[in-house]
Amino acid sequence: MTSAPDNGIFDPHQSSLLEGTLPAAGPASLFIDGQWVPARDGGTRRICNPADGSFVGEVSEAGEDDTRRAIAAARRAFEEGEWRNTPARQRGDVLLEVARAIRENAEEFAAAESADTGKRLAESRMDMSDIADSFEYFGTLAGHHAGRVVDAGDPTVASRVVAEPIGVCALITPWNYPLLQVAWKVAPCLAAGNAFVLKQAELTPHTAMMLMNVLHSAGVPAGVANLITGAGADCATPLSTSPEVDMVSFTGGLVTGRLIARNAAEGIKRVALELGGKNPNVIFADANYPAALDNALNAAFLHSGQVCSAGSRLIVEESIAKKFTADLVRRASQIKLGGPTDEAAETGSVISAAHRDKIADYVDRARQQGATIATGGRRATAGDNEGPHSTGATDLSAGQFYLPTVITNCDRSMDCVHAEAFGPTVTVETFTDEAEAIAIANDTSYGLAGAVWTEDAGKGERVAGALRHGTVWINDFHPYLPQAEWGGMKQSGNGRELGPTGLAEYQEHKHIYRNLNPAVTGWFAE
Ligand code: NAD
Repeated sequence: MTSAPDNGIFDPHQSSLLEGTLPAAGPASLFIDGQWVPARDGGTRRICNPADGSFVGEVSEAGEDDTRRAIAAARRAFEEGEWRNTPARQRGDVLLEVARAIRENAEEFAAAESADTGKRLAESRMDMSDIADSFEYFGTLAGHHAGRVVDAGDPTVASRVVAEPIGVCALITPWNYPLLQVAWKVAPCLAAGNAFVLKQAELTPHTAMMLMNVLHSAGVPAGVANLITGAGADCATPLSTSPEVDMVSFTGGLVTGRLIARNAAEGIKRVALELGGKNPNVIFADANYPAALDNALNAAFLHSGQVCSAGSRLIVEESIAKKFTADLVRRASQIKLGGPTDEAAETGSVISAAHRDKIADYVDRARQQGATIATGGRRATAGDNEGPHSTGATDLSAGQFYLPTVITNCDRSMDCVHAEAFGPTVTVETFTDEAEAIAIANDTSYGLAGAVWTEDAGKGERVAGALRHGTVWINDFHPYLPQAEWGGMKQSGNGRELGPTGLAEYQEHKHIYRNLNPAVTGWFAE
């Protein structure tokens, strides 16, 4: 029996964008071949808001059988060719229409995103704008990357390289920025003319479901866009093992990424992996102090640190480290926590009790290895409703809140400076010169993002050039542009999302060589 939502911001049954998706009798949240269908075995999952435990909705829990149905639908749609044979500029126009619909319905999308994730509504609203920007970017790019003419150095030869879609793409996404991660994959995948099966993270299904109806209304043909909701280990294996899938694009954790890459290697599928990060934030003594301090908080604690590029490893020049750390601890211990509609809140809950426990384990290990927990280091309790983290409007003991945590007295031998917590934590290390700062910042198996703060332009450029990370900010943290490539070096993944390379990921590049003057070669005797 489906109960009524009590999360106060989003009701899937009242959503104009989910019409037909959730019949009163039970959920049918798998979008396969242009139809909303339930899981074959009737499996369902209750989605609850982690900020207060309130009920959001009940969705279908797919099994492998459902995933195979979705792959078959995508294969048929790709082979029939309606979408891939649509001129690229028209495909782009469909994506521009999707961007328009997302902007028009941004409030409903944002409410659904906050209900699933516990994220503050203000942040979800910003996400929706970024998501529409991504569709707009790839919608505009679609018609401009058809290929290129090649100078063969011979006037009797016409040579060109054409961009073609790869085929059926499996798109697997995480829960931290649910629709944004989806947009970064779906927009270029469709712009290139592919068909796809999207496996959205099981905890955050609603905005991906809404997007399917938007794609359908904008003119994406049946079977080209398919959605599976369910736990990865139970339903997703065919996405990396089926011979009917040509490419897997995955964003998520290192362990899952490794498994997917291993499975995909068997069939020589193209694989794009966007994995975790342990991102250095290097502060030189000559930095703009107030900006560096403020951004260090933002880098570590935005969205409770559940950001792949979070600046969770602070590396501060020795001469200012004592003051900088004290100021950081003072500010972190006052960060206001709260639910999606708590307007005084500065950050929200973490995604689940299980995830909160993982963060607690990470902090306990740091403690055991000799680091100091200068502030935070525990889940919020009822006592915190009276303390400095409270706005007075959210019961911090009712949701999955973890206190902003600063870990000091760290050294490079400790796990806490190498492992990704994916929560509201930051470690502090110190350095004495530029070479040491670079060495510490590169001493990680990850390579997603990093930042350097200095008023010396030359030093900023030198350090940015030396960092082995896919994005480097100088005197900033977090901004990204749809026009600029995003992705990781080393164990943060391979391939790139966004930018022209983000489109090329979803294309095959075929060389067509035409001889205008065919002749006998005479190589073999007659
Ligand atoms: P996760 O790896 O547990 O899950 C990601 C997705 O994979 C989910 O949809 C999940 O259901 C699915 N999955 C799980 N097991 C699977 C399997 N056996 N086969 C196929 N799919 C499976 O990661 P998470 O906890 O959801 O996300 C957090 C991680 O994602 C962090 O490490 C974070 O750094 C990373 N991340 C990276 C980026 C980036 O751009 N590099 C962006 C966001 C998140």
